[in-house]
Amino acid sequence: MGGFDNFRSSPYVSSAAFVPFSKPDYYFPPQNAERYSGYVDLKLTCCTDIYIGSGFSHMPENGKQLVYQTMTYDGKAVIPGSSFKGVVRNLASAVSNSCLPFLPRYGKDGPAKYPAGISNISCKDGKFCIVCDIFGAMSKGSKVMFSDMYSENAIFYIKELNAQYGPKPVYTDKHGTAKGYKFFMTGENSYEMPSKIKARVVKKGAVFTGRVHFKKITEEELALLMFSLGLNDMEGQDIVLKIGGFKNEGMGEVKVSACDFVCSNMLNKSAGELAYQYYDMPTANQDAIEKISDEILTPV
Ligand SMILES: [Zn+2]
Repeated sequence: MGGFDNFRSSPYVSSAAFVPFSKPDYYFPPQNAERYSGYVDLKLTCCTDIYIGSGFSHMPENGKQLVYQTMTYDGKAVIPGSSFKGVVRNLASAVSNSCLPFLPRYGKDGPAKYPAGISNISCKDGKFCIVCDIFGAMSKGSKVMFSDMYSENAIFYIKELNAQYGPKPVYTDKHGTAKGYKFFMTGENSYEMPSKIKARVVKKGAVFTGRVHFKKITEEELALLMFSLGLNDMEGQDIVLKIGGFKNEGMGEVKVSACDFVCSNMLNKSAGELAYQYYDMPTANQDAIEKISDEILTPV
């Protein structure tokens, strides 16, 4: 295995897609805004195979090649709450006017730049964007808690996958400006790299269940949370989430549904209704929601 010096000759095909940044702003709900606490019980159905890196690999007897191991606990397949929370937070950031992610250096050209006319805000000292207010920030606790998700019916098998040594997706344009939040498109992405790796993965069809708690959040925050959990069930607008490794290979697509939604203060709305309504709320980035629903995370 090794890198490719000449990217032009590499058969690697990227399925990365970018959602442009929106102008960030602090979130100040009205003083008397109603607050809600409760939980939503989730069912994640794997539409494709899924691999959650455990950091472990295993050399089979008489084997020549290491087999990377998907995460398990007590023999059961598991998606850690922290992994799932990261996926949901990234989606929440992309569809709202939240603060922008830190831009790392790319190659010898120095740090990437935010697009012209967009400057970041600093979430601290009692001033937070809607995403930091929900998910937490430095010196600020989170108002949501994600349980680990387990599967009772997962089937494991060893899958041969393309080595992930292709050219990295280009995060910046030719002026060094960041393109936005990175996602991977749903659907097949077939290409053949000359070197392969093996991984023990969870076969599609597996169902994971778990719970997300929320505490003292506004209706707008609840709507953003439900949207970002992939719970908009409106015909033609539903999405899948992508989680785990080998996303560029088409892996990790999960369809999320709410089995139970319990909320204080008599908010008589379903999780799906709230998710759908986020589009019309003040912090929503409508272009991003449309791009994600219509082009990027569309169920196949
Ligand atoms: Zn923030």
